[in-house]
Amino acid sequence: MHRRVHRGVHRWPGAAHDRGVRSVDVALVGAGGAGLAVLHQLARAAPAGRRLRVALVDPLDRLAERPADRTWCSWDDAASPAARELAPAVHRSWRAVSVVDPGGVEHVLDLGRLRYAMVRSEDWYGLVADAVAAAARRRALDVVRVPAPAGAVVDAQARAVVSTAVGAVAASWVLDSRPAPPARAGATALLQHFRGVRVRTGAPALDPQRAVLMDLAVAQPRVGLAFGYCLPSDERTALVEHTEFSPAVLDDAGYEAALGALLPRALGGAPVEAVEHVEQGAIPMTDAAFARRAGRRVLRIGTGGGAVRPSTGYAFSALQRSARAVAAQVLAGRPVLPPRPYPRRHAWMDALVLRALADGSLDGPSFFPRLFTRNPPERVLRFLDGTTGPAAELALMATAPRGPMLRALARDAAWRVTMGR
Ligand SMILES: Cc1cc2nc3c(=O)[nH]c(=O)nc-3n(C[C@H](O)[C@H](O)[C@H](O)COP(=O)(O)OP(=O)(O)OC[C@H]3O[C@@H](n4cnc5c(N)ncnc54)[C@H](O)[C@@H]3O)c2cc1C
Repeated sequence: MHRRVHRGVHRWPGAAHDRGVRSVDVALVGAGGAGLAVLHQLARAAPAGRRLRVALVDPLDRLAERPADRTWCSWDDAASPAARELAPAVHRSWRAVSVVDPGGVEHVLDLGRLRYAMVRSEDWYGLVADAVAAAARRRALDVVRVPAPAGAVVDAQARAVVSTAVGAVAASWVLDSRPAPPARAGATALLQHFRGVRVRTGAPALDPQRAVLMDLAVAQPRVGLAFGYCLPSDERTALVEHTEFSPAVLDDAGYEAALGALLPRALGGAPVEAVEHVEQGAIPMTDAAFARRAGRRVLRIGTGGGAVRPSTGYAFSALQRSARAVAAQVLAGRPVLPPRPYPRRHAWMDALVLRALADGSLDGPSFFPRLFTRNPPERVLRFLDGTTGPAAELALMATAPRGPMLRALARDAAWRVTMGR
């Protein structure tokens, strides 16, 4: 017997005699953002009666616990099927966002057909859990949870085997989203690092329509850039974050000082009545290359599979795109290979920007306002999401500061010759 832990998911092993090898169609090694996005798409798309066997190998059970461990923000086409699919988990969304330049001038950016959406992790885990429960009811999925860290993953001709302390899982396909080093080092490694607080003010002080994507009129680091981020839920509640694109994280005092300076700006001077939640992270921004394939039947997804956009630190949209593609491959019985998260030429353009930011030749704080105000914001955001074509990219390049970008291009070319790439 396998103990049921929440609707549609069984825990394995259920008893000591149960230990051994469990066979499944798909093993999701790591059930965080990337792994659960794949589970969500499988749950949505698997036909009734299919009984696709899926193992979730992760010591954490986010489907049952639904922790508030991330606030995922991203932009998407407001009228797209993807946006409709996400709708139950969207806490707030905006059709315009503000960017405040280093001189303190606020630019309100109309996002055109896009929207900027805020998804709280607890709501998204709930959305996935509901889809899994519905899939279990129509016997589309048979999900088992293996509550242990995965050890070695051994790839073979027809199956790959994932070892854990509670038994092994043999799967036709292993989708591994554990943290993984890049397959090939890059020239630049920065971090998008931040600390944010969900705060409540004593009196109504916020305009819920005013989402500040980047407030660059804040103290800047020696290398890279820093900005404030403020997403209001209502007139009294907002997520306020201090974010940097820079080489190293701050210490506790550094984040506290930065937030201490930012909060009065973000809240219009209103005193904080309560801090409801604190969120912190450090996301790689690098031109290093991440592998999508770790073996014949073992594929990498998520951050370890290169899903983080190097020039922004965003990954949520790429995770959803990859999950849709992978689920379609699995259900069609085709060989599984996650799509390239971003086009190669975007990776190269990001490499130039990162290089110029890291060596200080590009003035980080003015770069993003410049891009956003000299282009339709929709073009910039679609590029940063990896979905533009060459014409839009040429137009974008024409608005980037020429000197720093040409110097970065020359240094990048020399580096590639030296490295034989
Ligand atoms: C606080 C925070 C906020 C973010 N906000 C945004 C945002 O607003 N927009 C955006 O686009 N991106 C955002 N990101 C970036 C990115 O979307 C997330 O990091 C996302 O969760 C990445 O998904 P993932 O599956 O690669 O990693 P994770 O979600 O971290 O999942 C990895 C999973 O692997 C498991 N694991 C680790 N080791 C093992 C092991 N040995 N065996 C089995 N399982 C293991 C972990 O328990 C975890 O569940 C944010 C990241 C953080 C940290």
